[in-house]
Amino acid sequence: MPVPPLPALTDRLVGPADGPVGRPLLAALGRLTSPLAADDYLCLIDPLLSARHPTGRVTAVRSEGPRAATLEIRPGRGWSGHRAGQYLPVGVELDGVRHWRTYSLTCPPGGGRYGALTITVQEEPRGTVSPHLVRRTPPGSAVRLGPAQGEFVLPEPPPARMLMVTAGSGITPVMGMLRTLALRPSPAPADVFLLHCAPGPGDCLFRAELADLAARLPWLRLHLRYTRTVGRLTAEHIAVACPDWRARETWACGPAGLLDTLEGHWAAASAAERLHVERFRLVPLDAPDAGASGGRMRPRPPPCCTSVRRRVS
Ligand SMILES: Cc1cc2nc3c(=O)[nH]c(=O)nc-3n(C[C@H](O)[C@H](O)[C@H](O)COP(=O)(O)OP(=O)(O)OC[C@H]3O[C@@H](n4cnc5c(N)ncnc54)[C@H](O)[C@@H]3O)c2cc1C
Repeated sequence: MPVPPLPALTDRLVGPADGPVGRPLLAALGRLTSPLAADDYLCLIDPLLSARHPTGRVTAVRSEGPRAATLEIRPGRGWSGHRAGQYLPVGVELDGVRHWRTYSLTCPPGGGRYGALTITVQEEPRGTVSPHLVRRTPPGSAVRLGPAQGEFVLPEPPPARMLMVTAGSGITPVMGMLRTLALRPSPAPADVFLLHCAPGPGDCLFRAELADLAARLPWLRLHLRYTRTVGRLTAEHIAVACPDWRARETWACGPAGLLDTLEGHWAAASAAERLHVERFRLVPLDAPDAGASGGRMRPRPPPCCTSVRRRVS
């Protein structure tokens, strides 16, 4: 019989760290290990045992085309779950410095295979963390995890008619929502129209899976737009592809230019409250003056999404 991984084994024996057995046990251990906490010793045995510094172990890495990869991460103690569409702060240590970046969870709540969380990272060629995650993070690597965050989530119950507009790696939070909806038993959970843009078929994340879902699920309509051939998406294209867009609760994630266009269009149609937007980058409020060192930033997304660098003690 396969032996469960260490955190799963301790969870099975003593329950969660804040449970009726775990809490007094850790308090008693804490008296023995004072002035350090029991948690400080547990994480020496296995970082995944630490509830104070939640950590995950990369269990698989799958290529998603030339510049992207999906990482399966088994979370250790202290992981408190997520809602479909939320993002995960991931901390990686590079040359003694811990860098935090955020990645949308692409698995349903509760995780995918063997309860593992999945994120899909698209490499930024001159970026710090994404090339490391895509190319230099083998299975077995440990990464620090923050709590799942974000309001760009699938509502419960889902609205009757939904529109998803995504581009590039902006498909990731919506993939988490679609995989969640796809697991629901029939009848159809919702009527979902997905309009996704990629430069070409070779760069289209999840292309085969999206086609398979659209073929299998009668409530899902998929419209792929390859921008290298037919140009960038405009509000007019959306109106042609999905004429009832105004009446649909809409989720959009992609480059800033596309999201700005959508926000303007939805506001002009007095439908702004039906548009939910997720931005992967901070948006400058004012262009910095020539020679100035920076500009003001719109305070969105929350601070944990920024490139906060923390020196590892
Ligand atoms: C809510 C949220 C969810 C997200 N979800 C995802 C997701 O699911 N998948 C995903 O792939 N990404 C996602 N991101 C983006 C992700 O968090 C990172 O921002 C991204 O991976 C880039 O990180 P990096 O460390 O590689 O780049 P950074 O080092 O932070 O660099 C950022 C940018 O600056 C440029 N740059 C860096 N150095 C230089 C230089 N010397 N000269 C010129 N330009 C330079 C890089 O090319 C890059 O474009 C998400 C972001 C947010 C806020």
